[in-house]
Amino acid sequence: MSKFPDSGESIFTTMSKMANEYQAINLSQGFPDFPADEKLTNIVAKIAKQNIHQYLPFSGYLPLLEKIATLTLRSYQRLVDPVSEILVTAGATQGIFTAIQALVNTNDEVIILDPSYDCYTTPIVLVHAKPVRIALNADFTPDWNAISDAMNQRTKMIILNNPHNPSGKIWSESDFLQLEKLLELFPEVLILADEVYEYIAFGNRHISVHSREKLKNRSIVISSFGKTFHITGWKIGYAIAPAHLMQELKKLHQFLVFSVNSIAQVAIAEYLDIVAPNTLYNFYEEKRNGFRSLLATSRFSLLPCEGTYFQVASYAAISNENDLDFTKRLIVDYGVAAIPLSVFYENKSDRKLIRFCFAKKDETLEKAAERLIRI
Ligand code: PMP
Ligand code: GLN
Repeated sequence: MSKFPDSGESIFTTMSKMANEYQAINLSQGFPDFPADEKLTNIVAKIAKQNIHQYLPFSGYLPLLEKIATLTLRSYQRLVDPVSEILVTAGATQGIFTAIQALVNTNDEVIILDPSYDCYTTPIVLVHAKPVRIALNADFTPDWNAISDAMNQRTKMIILNNPHNPSGKIWSESDFLQLEKLLELFPEVLILADEVYEYIAFGNRHISVHSREKLKNRSIVISSFGKTFHITGWKIGYAIAPAHLMQELKKLHQFLVFSVNSIAQVAIAEYLDIVAPNTLYNFYEEKRNGFRSLLATSRFSLLPCEGTYFQVASYAAISNENDLDFTKRLIVDYGVAAIPLSVFYENKSDRKLIRFCFAKKDETLEKAAERLIRI
């Protein structure tokens, strides 16, 4: 019998495959269609000739760990120890998997806020713990009454994703104050903060768990260079946590991957000297504004987008179909691929919402919009 009876093919695989099959414009799976920065690819070409092709220390290449510490200090005024508090991971996905597997025990409960990204539940189920999925409010803010009702002595961890995929919502100061107040009653509960879109927050208004005095010492914060540097295929990210939690992650990491790709680590360490990730939001803010104005005359109704490279749209004025059927028809009849939002919920909602990825060249977005405004 399968250990994962509820786990089918990821929606990202399904939609990208179908987009390829029908040669549709792929605004479904989240990845940029423009090239990586030439400065980064030049660094790769240069360092590939050096002797950097063997295993690195298992928790990460020391210069990279040091530069991540500097970046964390610059971005959030948080001082972290490169050696005991940072772990380089094979993408955010491995950081999330490792944190859950290393810290959550059998019969624990982990709170997940729906709509939620798809890699959280499997590692929870694998340790025979229970994912407790609580729907966000209709505007994608946390439902504090429901969260508070779900907390009990078995609650081990709350997973936050901020800025939020798929909705593009960003947590406010008041959301954090509510969380901090609630957690005063649960001193043992940990936070897993998935902040992979930390540098794609419009108006630069992301509040990180790194800057919350009451949360940071009970949190594992996850980041992804894939998002920050337009290199999703490199699969490189990192986790930051206080040393007593990090030592548990490391015990597992050394037998899960041992160490992460050396070329990627050395290249990013050098690249971090010449880029400032906290200007990235300007680039994507222009893309968001451009995409939204291209769709202004369409029959889609666009929800607010405060961060990430995803735009959620309602098709309620266009069709009564469920969102999966609608996105499939969008590919076949109109040649544009998107992601249905219901797949991110445990209790399937039928809000007629779909997600477009706007991390694309302007010409890709223009071509897609030409098709979408005809619907
Ligand atoms: N969390 C969220 C919210 C994401 O959107 C993604 C996107 N892929 C990940 C985690 C995984 O990131 P990575 O590709 O670095 O594993
Ligand atoms: N995070 C990407 C998205 O939300 C997908 C990554 C993947 O395909 N696993 O579209």
